[in-house]
Amino acid sequence: NEDLLKKSEQLAMIGQLAAGVAHEIRNPLTTIKGFLQLMKESAEDDFHLQVIQGELDRIEIITNEFLALAKPRAVHFSMTSLTTLLTSSVEFIKMECLKQGVDVRFSVEEAEIYCDSHQIKQVVLNVMKNALEALPDGGLLSVQLEKENGCAKISIQDNGAGIPPERMKHLGEPFYSTKEKGTGLGLMICQKIIKEHNGSFSIQSNVNEGTIVTILLPIAGKE
Ligand code: ADP
Ligand code: MG
Repeated sequence: NEDLLKKSEQLAMIGQLAAGVAHEIRNPLTTIKGFLQLMKESAEDDFHLQVIQGELDRIEIITNEFLALAKPRAVHFSMTSLTTLLTSSVEFIKMECLKQGVDVRFSVEEAEIYCDSHQIKQVVLNVMKNALEALPDGGLLSVQLEKENGCAKISIQDNGAGIPPERMKHLGEPFYSTKEKGTGLGLMICQKIIKEHNGSFSIQSNVNEGTIVTILLPIAGKE
């Protein structure tokens, strides 16, 4: 789809520009912080300097986070236990599930694949986050890992509102979101990462029943 390609090119462009801006902010910030430190050493009442320091710290955190997001990371493939990866991902969202009254059903076989574990974890967390967001009043989140035809099969299922058919075709389009605070980037990133791992990413959904995301990753992995 030509339109989609254009959109994702624009997106990559925006990402690069934004990372450039964040980088440019970081350099003068370092200088300012250095001089502020000197001023604090000679000042009598440093209350105002303390406030400035606090605000500078905040800018620094935001620019760093932003750079981490926008900057393409070096890809690092290694043999990874999906069992461990899924376990720590579920651990990561556990508090949120508890708060929301979401029960987690976890059933995993052992499976190792050759992958960029950071990226695969990003995919899994994105999908789990969507599932949680589909369960604002509680429900069931089920995470499954099994081996099937030389693939590791990860299934992440929720019993939330589901996705009506007319919305299905828009999933994965950049900025397509039905959420007030959504970015509409999650699924696009997931699809891209799984494709780069020679895997497949699919979504099945029924309105009022829920959604199931299935991720297949080759166990041999190295192409
Ligand atoms: P975002 O989460 O920021 O909206 P995503 O790319 O992650 O962006 O998802 C795009 C859209 O797909 C969501 O806004 C939502 O409409 C739909 N969606 C994704 N996962 C689910 C799910 N588990 N249940 C219902 N709708 C979903
Ligand atoms: Mg999302």
